[in-house]
Amino acid sequence: MTIVLGAIADDFTGATDLANNLVRSGMRCLQVIGVPGPELEVSDVDAVVVALKSRSCPTDEAVVDSLAALAWLQAQGARQCFFKYCSTFDSTERGNIGPVADALLERLGAEQTVMVPAFPVNGRTVYQGHLFVGDRLLNDSGMQHHPLTPMTDADLVRVLARQTPHPVGLAARPVLAQGAEATRQHLADLAGQGVRHVICDTLDERDLDVLAEACVSLPLVTGGSGLGQALPAQYRRLGWLAEIAEPGRLQPSSGGKLVLSGSCSRATLGQVAHFLERYPGFALDPLALAESDAQWEAALDFARNALERGGPVLVYASADPERVKAAQARLGVERAGQLVERALGQLARTLVSEGVGRLVVAGGETSGAVVSALGIETLRIGEQIDPGVPWTQAQLEEREVPLSLALKSGNFGNIDFFTRAFEVLP
Ligand code: ADP
Repeated sequence: MTIVLGAIADDFTGATDLANNLVRSGMRCLQVIGVPGPELEVSDVDAVVVALKSRSCPTDEAVVDSLAALAWLQAQGARQCFFKYCSTFDSTERGNIGPVADALLERLGAEQTVMVPAFPVNGRTVYQGHLFVGDRLLNDSGMQHHPLTPMTDADLVRVLARQTPHPVGLAARPVLAQGAEATRQHLADLAGQGVRHVICDTLDERDLDVLAEACVSLPLVTGGSGLGQALPAQYRRLGWLAEIAEPGRLQPSSGGKLVLSGSCSRATLGQVAHFLERYPGFALDPLALAESDAQWEAALDFARNALERGGPVLVYASADPERVKAAQARLGVERAGQLVERALGQLARTLVSEGVGRLVVAGGETSGAVVSALGIETLRIGEQIDPGVPWTQAQLEEREVPLSLALKSGNFGNIDFFTRAFEVLP
């Protein structure tokens, strides 16, 4: 079994976002959590997305993990590699986008790659190398205040030039407007001048299609999930990929319905309130969790009772900013988060072993904690529930049928996400 596309994503929810777009464009897709071991075998998939945590870790670590992921993807016969980062080019002065792209290029023996972060349907566009979020330049979009990767410069040619010793070039809109052949020629001209990285303008879907056609034969492409949406049509054109009727088809789901929420984002708070108007829920409080196991046990009993009556049921630590701040002031930010993540992870493990088979988790960090508590290494990607959030399935040893999982990062999903997710599940 060989795969067509092998992707390396620099964070967990970014990986899911790309995988979701690949499925929507006709590829059967598996997400692997962390660098895959050599023994991991895949079948019936066209694309694999390896989810790393390499966005803001030390650069050396990001390079080592990315190369290990690449080696495994190459062993699966991947015809093209894709380095996925955020559509807002989240990185620091030193990386990790430039150093990881350089290391991957070198290992692949390739001369050049493209950088296509744009995702026009989400308002991320690039013009003359400048990244916009809606109608604002990146450095005026709020991203300049990001705690880990503040983006204070919207000129991506200049940003990337600080992260790599190699020349950085631009494929500007006027070239793209002439079509894929002219764009390919422009890339070749730049390669002739030794330009290793090419930042690509993108204003709309058409530009993404032109770029996908122009770079489909490169060993490595890099960018956001927008480019991922455009590439599968090119793979089909080249005969690398067959028409697949239902690329997001999962096995029929079964078992209890549980929602666990550790996200305190505005979107999640709305979804929690909406759910509680219809179904039962139990609120966890980090201050009580810090004192004893009593609250955790009460939550478990509550969930068991509701599940016996057919569910769905919600257990949540989600709280408004004042309550979160108060808990953080008493316990410290890290400990408050850890207590909640541990409690939700252990609830997931206990209740899945008792028969929960359909699980929705809200929160990026929370999802990471739950997935690791359940010992999940791979996720098969299914149909989208709301933009960016698909149903997935994981095979667990203790279950005959796979566990259905929806992992929602904080800001995603409509107000009725927690209830609708179960309604759209086959
Ligand atoms: P999001 O995707 O919305 O950012 P995350 O799960 O990534 O959600 O992050 C939320 C963090 O807040 C987690 O570490 C979680 O454990 C923590 N948390 C959740 N509820 C509370 C609370 N009531 N008080 C303090 N921290 C909390």
